[in-house]
Amino acid sequence: MAVFDNHFHLRPTGLGVGAAKQFEKAGGTALMLTHCPYDDIPIRRAEDYETAYARTLDLALQVREATRLKVFVALGPYPVDILPLRESIGLEAATGVLLRGVDLAGRHVAEGRAVAVGEVGRPHFPVDPDAWRASNEILAHAMAVARDRGCAVILHTEDPTPETFQEFAAIADRCGLARGQVVKHHSTPLTRSEENHGIVPSLLAKAELVRAAVGGGPFFLETDYIDDPKRPGAVLGPATVPRKTRAWIAEGVLSEVGANRIHRDLPRATYGIETE
Ligand SMILES: [Zn+2]
Repeated sequence: MAVFDNHFHLRPTGLGVGAAKQFEKAGGTALMLTHCPYDDIPIRRAEDYETAYARTLDLALQVREATRLKVFVALGPYPVDILPLRESIGLEAATGVLLRGVDLAGRHVAEGRAVAVGEVGRPHFPVDPDAWRASNEILAHAMAVARDRGCAVILHTEDPTPETFQEFAAIADRCGLARGQVVKHHSTPLTRSEENHGIVPSLLAKAELVRAAVGGGPFFLETDYIDDPKRPGAVLGPATVPRKTRAWIAEGVLSEVGANRIHRDLPRATYGIETE
């Protein structure tokens, strides 16, 4: 059976490949290894994204060598990057650096090293109107690049309401990107299309979220594992998705058909990937 974690980070300072091995040992078959900021590669100019993306791609390679997992990569400028960068070079230049970071991610997709642009979007906490506007500009650019590259975009934003989903759907429509290629990472369990307007929710693998989600439309499961030894327990552990999936099937929370929809059919439809 396919078991796919839709949002998983690795760091050289964390468990690294060891975390992926835990996922595999628990029954996992495929991961979306999502780019994250690295403390030792601060973003000062667009080229720094190349250095940082190279690390994520290298971690993916290490996991493929050490396991039988299918490792897919999402690359993009982390939305919060704009805040420290603005302090040093001003908002306009900072926006330019993140926009270029999106373009570089798109090139990796075009050349087959990544399958999605993400996680991109806007800070998950309130920011001033200027930073908000700039972040929305970057978000829309990411959707346009995804459309050009024929790939999905993975959004990092505040927790979505039906209104937020409507906003994302409108931006996607304007950019010509199919709503089904827009994934909301760390989503609320709004799985009915009247609520999410065709944007694809990705839920933390927690019982209360999954119970609220079943019965609606498709959704992904994720841990948002951050592989940070300084913040143990800040997120779900690396083996959570396979363990919980099995438990939920046993308890009747998920059917096997439902589990296959999450772990095999939706990744295929959204990213064009095979997870088993
Ligand atoms: Zn993340």
